Amino acid sequence: MTSDRSTDTPSLDAHWMPFTANRQFKQAPRLLARAEGMHYWTQEGRQVLDGVAGLWCVNAGHARPRIVQAIAQQASVLDYAPPFQMGHPQAFELAEELVKLTPPGLDKVFFTNSGSESVETALKMALAYHHVRGEGSRTRLIGRERGYHGVNFGGISVGGIVGNRKLFGTLLSGVDHIRHTHDPARNAFSFGQPAHGAELADDLERLCALHDASTIAAVIVEPVAGSTGVLLPPQGYLQRLRAICDRHGILLIFDEVITGFGRTGQPFAAQTFGVTPDLMTVAKGLTNGCVPMGAVFAKSAIHDAFMRGPEQAIEFPHGYTYSAHPLACAAALATLQTYAEENLLTRASALHEHFGRALHALRGLPHVVDVRNIGLVGGVELAPLPDAPGKRAFDVFLDCWEQGVLIRTTGDTVALSPPLIIEKAHIDRIVDTLAGALRRAA
Ligand code: PMP
Repeated sequence: MTSDRSTDTPSLDAHWMPFTANRQFKQAPRLLARAEGMHYWTQEGRQVLDGVAGLWCVNAGHARPRIVQAIAQQASVLDYAPPFQMGHPQAFELAEELVKLTPPGLDKVFFTNSGSESVETALKMALAYHHVRGEGSRTRLIGRERGYHGVNFGGISVGGIVGNRKLFGTLLSGVDHIRHTHDPARNAFSFGQPAHGAELADDLERLCALHDASTIAAVIVEPVAGSTGVLLPPQGYLQRLRAICDRHGILLIFDEVITGFGRTGQPFAAQTFGVTPDLMTVAKGLTNGCVPMGAVFAKSAIHDAFMRGPEQAIEFPHGYTYSAHPLACAAALATLQTYAEENLLTRASALHEHFGRALHALRGLPHVVDVRNIGLVGGVELAPLPDAPGKRAFDVFLDCWEQGVLIRTTGDTVALSPPLIIEKAHIDRIVDTLAGALRRAA
């Protein structure tokens, strides 16, 4: 039965938790009751410093009053508006504000409710774009090993994580993958972008030779692969991928669900790395994690290709009941104002040195085999226990949790992605706590 006092633990039976070892969790639950700024408070009232911005999303810190008020105000004025054949002013205003931040040319915005939906939308846009301009033979989609693009069928098909794929049948047909860029033998402990591996982009040339480029619609990559361990693009890699796409008329999609909204030191990683994709997916930081919302940014030429039929035709047969939801638009507009007023979208570049140096000081501690960083995202890779991959990092996570610091682990990599409002003292506390946990893990 649900309790009426928030400090009581509710029954944990019914909730089937996503991406969670349910039975293990329910033996020792970690319940969050409140959040503000850089901190969570647990159900028992313990304060926890947030080293991961919730789940790479609360970039402006928790419970920002302006965002809270904007959502409440919007709910009282216009709670819902149908998005098909109808609109509301905030959706248009938000799109205009967003395209002021995107790289030049990414001038059109399609709203979704999550990163996974953004990915599906971008893949469908790519296929349909080629179709409407008479290149319907371009049906293949190319992803990358160790890519994470959400959990819907398109996303797990182009994604490169075996555990997310193997239970779900044959997935989308006509999908291929290029290799990932993780190369510890050549790049371990690189500070920022690693030097080696630009040539891995040439895998796309090999796939063009194998299938013929005229069958390939798009390639999708995360500029920085987050969920599989904070893997940075080697210097020159994204440029090379862009050049191959241009050479063969293939659309380049950047999945910026994690890297978007200031994580790498610019509004988008496309700007940090100086490469502009044709389509870009975002979510998470768009609303500071407050209300579910995602978006796809598209080049005008892609959008315009759909605008050629009879006036009354539905130009792109795709969308969601909650696309451009008024509450999400209000949250996003208030989030963008907060980012702008506090210069948060470039704050990660100012803290890149301090954060990177703090993380790289972990080199030499027990089990640490690599450290990777850019802006305010970092990965500390640990040597796995021989028969239990992921367990060592998870034990470190549990230890940090006990010490009042929330980190995240993916496989045997500890991932850090704190809110962009973080101060240097917070960075030092997170890394000191992590260092203590690593020593104890020895
Ligand atoms: N793409 C990337 C790169 C992601 O990191 C994520 C989520 N971490 C997604 C897509 C999926 O987003 P969501 O969980 O909002 O569906």
